[in-house]
Amino acid sequence: MKSEVELYDTTLRDGSQGEGVNFSVMDKLRIAEKLDAFGIHYIEGGWPGSNMKDLEFFEIARRRNYKTAKLAAFSMTRRKGVTVDRDEQMLRLLEAETPVITIVGKTWLLHVTEVLRATPDENLAMIADSIRFLKDRRKTVFYDAEHSFDGYKNDPDYALATWRAAQTAGADTIVLCDTNGGCLPSEIARIVGVAKTKLSAPIGIHTHNDCGLGVANAIAAVEAGASQVQGTINGYGERTGNCNLTSVIPVLVLKMGKACVPAKSLPKLRELSHFVDEIANFQPDPRQPWVGATAFAHKGGMHAHAVGRAASTYEHIDPAAVGNARRVLVSDMSGRSNILAKARELGFQLHADTAELKTILNRIKQLESEGVEFEAAEASLALLIRKHLQHRELPFTVEAYHVSMRGNGDSSVCEATIKVGVKGRSAHTVADGDGPVNALDGALRLALSKFFPQLEKLKLIDYKVRIIDTATGSAAKTRVLITTSDGKREWGTVGVSENIITASLQALVDSMEYALMSK
Ligand SMILES: [Zn+2]
Repeated sequence: MKSEVELYDTTLRDGSQGEGVNFSVMDKLRIAEKLDAFGIHYIEGGWPGSNMKDLEFFEIARRRNYKTAKLAAFSMTRRKGVTVDRDEQMLRLLEAETPVITIVGKTWLLHVTEVLRATPDENLAMIADSIRFLKDRRKTVFYDAEHSFDGYKNDPDYALATWRAAQTAGADTIVLCDTNGGCLPSEIARIVGVAKTKLSAPIGIHTHNDCGLGVANAIAAVEAGASQVQGTINGYGERTGNCNLTSVIPVLVLKMGKACVPAKSLPKLRELSHFVDEIANFQPDPRQPWVGATAFAHKGGMHAHAVGRAASTYEHIDPAAVGNARRVLVSDMSGRSNILAKARELGFQLHADTAELKTILNRIKQLESEGVEFEAAEASLALLIRKHLQHRELPFTVEAYHVSMRGNGDSSVCEATIKVGVKGRSAHTVADGDGPVNALDGALRLALSKFFPQLEKLKLIDYKVRIIDTATGSAAKTRVLITTSDGKREWGTVGVSENIITASLQALVDSMEYALMSK
């Protein structure tokens, strides 16, 4: 099936301009592989003329077989006063040997005269020469018209002249860019509409998110006739980022019914989003639309009650369509139906008439009043429910522990010893750490790995401490939330105590128990 809207991913070029994003060549290759498997049409790998790393990427990538995606290399129009075949960046660009080349050029006279310090005519010649040069070499050429909308608003005739120059030179798509991210959807729609009537070449859209409108502007452009959307996974990019493909794709498919990615891909959207975050070493944003952890999370008792009956009451789509899942959050706002839904989600057969339900609810209420917070600690909640439903022996017990610290003013080291019991046998271990929790985690894991080698691959990926005032009015307590990963999924556990070490140990013990329980 031919796509009505082509997707052009620039995570590896525009996306890598985002603060904190720093992809190695290997990272880029892994992301390209994933984008191709997902069904993205074009992958912009980088700007070969601007740095060696990008050239190195293309050297490896061009020998790979991508199933759907075509590789694109990015560059700007030839420099002024130089013939195109002598322009060094142009020659570098050809070395990348990609089937697609994207050339960025100026639309806005302010940039032509102030930044390029070229005449309006010379700019038109730079655009045309560059595109013709590449078309003569049988490349597919996309023309990224920088500052299209600001340029058009400033001087519509000149903006049109630049786009026409690109079209006449043979550009395969004219991509209008809201480079500064300052335009409104209505302006985007109007100007794309003008381009559609004045040009015969297909129109693309490249937006930035400075007003929080990156996705909305891309959608407005598609509604006005654009057939290519450029953006990045998770919206990475300069300043506040680019148009977020992770949102654009489900909007195109599920809301607008546009053919763009294969049907089997959409349920892998969440996985793609998290994969790219992992490679970039970012914590996935829980509030990200469609794919975030809270995108289909229900907290209020009334909402949880209603979605338990009919999901569409408070959900705009079936979360599974984008690979996400419904979550029912437990909090003291919640009632019995929240707990029931949560228990079912965790795999327990719990019903309104289950005998243990009342005890479980009372226990949760009591713990919440002591300062325990289960929202990010679903693993601790699963353990609690399980303990009430199945009276099984604990996989291990902590029999004793000791933490000490020594320092000499400049540096310090903590040491933890721990004794655990497993079915009548015990292990006694010691470990060092930068801090007490770190040392305790090391010692506990060392002791348990003698009995449960599978725990060795667990990684503590997040640790949060909060001082809380509890409803009981007693001394301030410490709440510790930890997130553990086994490389495939993550879970949260919680501990609360007046003592930070005790609270941490509770959360650590829950985390290990949960890992053993759920395998
Ligand atoms: Zn951009």
